[in-house]
Amino acid sequence: RDPFCSEVKPRILLMGLRRSGKSSIQKVVFHKMSPNETLFLESTNKICREDVSNSSFVSFQIWDFPGQIDFFDPTFDYEMIFRGTGALIFVIDSQDDYVEALSRLHLTVTRAYKVNPDINFEVFIHKVDGLSDDHKIEKQRDIHKRANDDLADASLERIHLSFYLTSIYDHSIFEAFSKVVQKLIPQLPTLENLLNIFISNSGIEKAFLFDVVSKIYIATDSSPVDMQTYELCCDMIDVVIDISCIYGLSEDVAGSPYDKESMAIIHLNNTTVMYLKEVTKFLALVCFLREESFERKGLIDYNFHCFKKAIEEVFDLRLKVQRNRKLLRQR
Ligand code: GDP
Repeated sequence: RDPFCSEVKPRILLMGLRRSGKSSIQKVVFHKMSPNETLFLESTNKICREDVSNSSFVSFQIWDFPGQIDFFDPTFDYEMIFRGTGALIFVIDSQDDYVEALSRLHLTVTRAYKVNPDINFEVFIHKVDGLSDDHKIEKQRDIHKRANDDLADASLERIHLSFYLTSIYDHSIFEAFSKVVQKLIPQLPTLENLLNIFISNSGIEKAFLFDVVSKIYIATDSSPVDMQTYELCCDMIDVVIDISCIYGLSEDVAGSPYDKESMAIIHLNNTTVMYLKEVTKFLALVCFLREESFERKGLIDYNFHCFKKAIEEVFDLRLKVQRNRKLLRQR
């Protein structure tokens, strides 16, 4: 019984002109590559690069432009792909001239919308690390205006585009991905509610539910998120996984660096404790609490146990609903 089989995974398509940064985004977010190493990524000529990240909560595909994707090619079944897609991320290189990218964006969005009006359209204005803050805002305003003008000219104002400023050299790419993924999780309000209940009953200040592989947070309680806390969580996940990979796995027994037993406690020098625990095979809970509150660890662990059970039920229920819908459709 796997509540995270591919049926319920949010499906994401990453598109954009060649060299806009798609492979780099994939490598940095899902394969822990360091941003500098992406300088040496080789260009590929494949139309579609599927990421079979079985280990992640998210599943996604990459498509290249231009040339490789021809919407008029009858052998290329884009309709089927758009139908199964939850979010389409279009990457625009902000350090390059973006006229061609904007026209591709328009073509793609209008095609995809016709096939599946429920897709979320997400535009990453990428490689903004080289730009000053003023420049970033100016670029975003310009791209936003042009893309929406194109839609208005085609009388398609009802298509909504969301914009994000991203770079692989900081956490902005993880933050943008987190927002894109969160929009695709119908259970999000329930998850937030469960997190709120869990933290208020356990004396915890902040809690995040993380996809361990990508370090995307798929939910948090309703108190505001500050970037520093988020970055600390990412660092903690890295430490736990790296140490487990290097010293935790024995060569003769096949195992995963992340399993049911996975947990970690880090005492920071400002009387705060960070507490990480496994929730499902993809997800971990990372909490921040005061040292005094951590003295009641037994209570926290008991509440956590209830929280974990509730999460499993939420996803299991959704799977059942989806299966039933499918059966009804087939009748
Ligand atoms: P793709 O063809 O769309 O897959 O593009 P690549 O991932 O191969 O990236 C093309 C180039 O852009 C590489 O040299 C990357 O190092 C660079 N790049 C990707 N993302 C960023 C970014 O956020 N900032 C900067 N400055 N360069 C980036």
